[in-house]
Amino acid sequence: MLKRIGVLTSGGDSPGMNAAIRAVTRSALSQGVEVVAIEDGFKGMVEGKMYLMNSKSVSDIMFRGGTILGSARLPEFKDIEVRKIAISKLEEFGVEAVVVIGGDGSYRGALALTEMGINCIGLPGTIDNDIVSTDYTIGFDTALNTVIQNIDKLRDTSSSHHRCSVVEVMGNKCGDLALFSGLSCGAEMIITAETGYDEQEVLKRLRELDETRRKKHAIVVISEKITDVEMLANKISKATSFSGRSTVLGHIQRGGSPTAFDRVLATRMGDYAVELLVKGIGGHCVGLVDNKITSYPIEEALSLPRPSRKQLFGLHQRLI
Ligand code: ADP
Repeated sequence: MLKRIGVLTSGGDSPGMNAAIRAVTRSALSQGVEVVAIEDGFKGMVEGKMYLMNSKSVSDIMFRGGTILGSARLPEFKDIEVRKIAISKLEEFGVEAVVVIGGDGSYRGALALTEMGINCIGLPGTIDNDIVSTDYTIGFDTALNTVIQNIDKLRDTSSSHHRCSVVEVMGNKCGDLALFSGLSCGAEMIITAETGYDEQEVLKRLRELDETRRKKHAIVVISEKITDVEMLANKISKATSFSGRSTVLGHIQRGGSPTAFDRVLATRMGDYAVELLVKGIGGHCVGLVDNKITSYPIEEALSLPRPSRKQLFGLHQRLI
């Protein structure tokens, strides 16, 4: 019979992590399982930064962005000797199993701990939607709405000044934030790792929109780590009659109160994580697949191929 579990948030934070912490805590307590908060991810685990929670510890956190537990990165966690220290700290606090909320790096840490005898369950907490074993990660929907609100504002001012706004969004090699926000805002172009990037093609297409289609403005949504958007905007100014402007949305995408979708997703996933641990399952990660909460072995989840978004890109093209 499981007596005490831990919960931590790791890697980049995302809105909805608090809702997941709340769900894990309340779900465990309702089944007679005690919950220890582990601060600052695996780093706090190694340092023994833990405390016992009660139901009140997670009151009034559902609507707050960020994570009340703090998050950190500890690359040294790949070292088995460092993980042994973590396990001795968990034993000291009587923690038998852990829910790890984070991205795929955190999943690897969770798997490594499970292999050393501490059952861990991973929950997908990232705005990037770059975890293939779930249709949506916790925080993606909130970040998407933040991006959309900002692009809508840029569009207002772009059309007044015949501008082309190049908007860089996050996503860490996953184009979903760019694709979904581009679709939601009717962006003239969406550029992601999947579409590829050819500067001459981009300029040619914008000239077409400018000269043939007589567009009053243009929005280009582009994933991070593809090109220098300021340079691209300058080239647009030279190659077309648009005045090119770049905007890097940056970390505002990570903040804000989670949307209803993220709160419900985090709540369902947190509850399921506890259910798995109570059953004695570890080394799994929770996902939402076709609107059903499910789980995959972490090893399998990390090797799934990224789905193609070809159809959605095609739809976007047809509607410009
Ligand atoms: P994310 O979880 O958002 O992908 P990171 O890739 O930075 O963020 O991973 C978060 C933390 O997970 C790392 O700082 C490290 O402590 C742990 N981690 C990552 N990869 C491994 C690994 N291969 N083995 C053990 N721990 C890992």
